[in-house]
Order: sequence, then structure tokens, then C-alpha cells
Amino acid sequence: MSRKAHAIIDLNAIRHNYQLARKARPGGRTVAVVKANAYGHGALAVAHALAHDADAFAVASVEEAVELREGGIHQPILLLEGPFDQADVEAIHAYQLWTVAHHAAQVDALAKLPTATRTQVWLKIDSGMHRLGVPLDQVSALHARLCAMPQVTEVVLMTHFACADEPGHALNARQLEAFTAATRGLEGPRSLANSAALLSLPAALADWQRPGLMLYGASPFETHLPDYPTLQPAMSLCSELIAVREVSAGETVGYGASWTASQPTRVGTVAMGYGDGLHRQARPGTPVLVDGHRCTLIGRVSMDMVTVDLSAAPAAQPGSPIVFWGPGLPIEEVAPCYQSIPYTLTTCLTPRVHRVYKGNNQ
Ligand SMILES: *Cc1c(COP(=O)(O)O)cnc(C)c1O
Repeated sequence: MSRKAHAIIDLNAIRHNYQLARKARPGGRTVAVVKANAYGHGALAVAHALAHDADAFAVASVEEAVELREGGIHQPILLLEGPFDQADVEAIHAYQLWTVAHHAAQVDALAKLPTATRTQVWLKIDSGMHRLGVPLDQVSALHARLCAMPQVTEVVLMTHFACADEPGHALNARQLEAFTAATRGLEGPRSLANSAALLSLPAALADWQRPGLMLYGASPFETHLPDYPTLQPAMSLCSELIAVREVSAGETVGYGASWTASQPTRVGTVAMGYGDGLHRQARPGTPVLVDGHRCTLIGRVSMDMVTVDLSAAPAAQPGSPIVFWGPGLPIEEVAPCYQSIPYTLTTCLTPRVHRVYKGNNQ
């Protein structure tokens, strides 16, 4: 690794956070959501770190599922959006996947699977988010069809909340009610909770929980909840200073000359830019750690580099370590400075950022 833009991923933290998620509902089961390359943390490494613990994994596409299967993951793998085409349906058989069915045509497609197939189907119900899911009045008929299929071992009834990150939002209660009414009397396990619901909506805890973000140690909430469990941040986004200069008062820094020094300022240049996934919307004043000291970004984020006001780290020099977020600089705190949320900060990191793993992989 010559260019030092890298993300340190603490696998022990991910294991710790998975156990916290599991404790929310003793006796329940917990599918670890590792879609989008485990929110940028590396799906295969995360899945191997959880291989002894996780009841199942969830991904967004067959490609993501195949990466895990071919990488040696034997747990159930759930396709969160179900099959997109006939080749995906065949992959459910070939790779022994579990699948969501979120509309009637997917149920039709699953009916044509070879009868030797054994898959678990999660019937996704639109309880009010209006993005995916079967309408409430189709639930019992589709459930009955799925239950009658020889290929289907079990039907899980699932739904997804639109506003679980706002625990007091009225839509949460409405969705719970709609789901409960539509599934009344139907057999099978239930699954409602993502991270935010798992942490804040006890009524949403059911047979299966589906945490994603919290596994990576980030909070889905904008404001801190009072009895929030101690998640451990899993990622530190790091690099180093590659140049340092003195800039006189009145001089500008970076593209567009968007930042002007109001006094003589030591400016550092860091090997990290939007080509690494660092958001270009970063506001001037966004905190970064330089040698452990809190400094601030100045000027525009460019493709490969970003500039820092080194006033708070006078000893910094080329080679000094930089942390954009991680233990000591919570991703929840920096996300608004990038006009974003923790989900996108880690998920948008590009392959150019080396992922370095710590915490023994079992
Ligand atoms: C992504 C996803 C999750 C995980 O959500 P988090 O907010 O990251 O916990 C759970 N369920 C479904 C259906 C998802 O698509």
C-alpha cells in the first residue's frame, strides 16, 4: 500500500454489535444485512467474521449472494428484493438462496422452480412505506399460494418501516397496525425491524430482526436515544498528509479558490478525495483528526486530495496520520458536515480505499 487512503475495519466491533442486536430479542433470530459490500466494510470479510454467529445474511442481488457463497459462506442468504429475472430464479436453486417475494409475479416465477428446490420465502408486505411489497389485500392469497408450493420450506411475513429512525413518528404505529391486521391468523414467523426499529420500537421485535447499519457501529438516529446501547464503531477512514505549506493572508486554497486565508495558515494536503468516495459536499469546518488533534477541512474536496487547516496540529508534517471518522471522531458527528448520513459515507467508499482488517477472523 503506497498511497495511504485506507479504511481500518474492526471485525471484533462488528461481532460485538451483532451480539447487541441479538440481545434485543432473546430467542429471536437475526439476519445480518451485508448488502452493498456490507455498507462499504467488505461483505465477504464481514460475513466470515460473523460466520459462527449469524443466523443468516441478507443482500440486495444475486451477484452479492454468489460472492458470499463462492467465498465459502454456508449460512442462509436472503435476497432482499427477490429475483429480478429468470436467471435470478435459477440462481435461487443453484446457490440455495432464500428470497423475498414482493409482488405477485415473483410468486409466479418461484412456482416454476424445480420441485427439488428448498427455499424459504419472505413475503414482503407494503404496510405503508409504498416502495416495495404486496398490497395488504393480496397478503392472505399470496401467503396461501406460497405455503402450498413444494419448493417453499417456510414463509416469513415481513415488512419495512419508512420512519423507524424517528421513533415518535405516527407512521410507525400505522404500519405496525396495518401489518398486524393483514397477517392476522396467518402462520409463519414475522420480521419487521431494521436497526432503527430494533433499537427503538419494541413492538416491532419479532421472530427475525434485520439489522444493517448498527452492525457497523453507527447510529441510525439523528438525536441520541436515552438508553442507547454501546455500539462499537467498526470503521476508521484514514490517510496521511502528503504535503504541508504556509499560506499567506489573502491567498486562496484549492479549486475555485473557494477558501481564503484570513491570516497566515499552515495548510496540509491529504491523500483522500471524491475518487475515494469522500463526499464533495463537505462543508468547510468539517472536523478531521491530524496526529490525533482536531483540525478542519478547508477548500473543496478534489478527486484525489483534500486540504486541511493545520493550526490545531502545529507539529504535523508529511506522513502525519489523518482520521476522517472512527473511534475518537464519531461518524454520526461528521456525517452532517458532509451533508449526509453514516449509511452513505461508508457505502460510497470506492475500491481504491484499501480495506485493512483487524480483530481475529475466526
Ligand atoms: C437494508 C435493509 C435493512 C437494514 O437496514 P438498516 O437501517 O441498515 O438496519 C433491513 N431490511 C431491509 C428490507 C433492508 O432493505
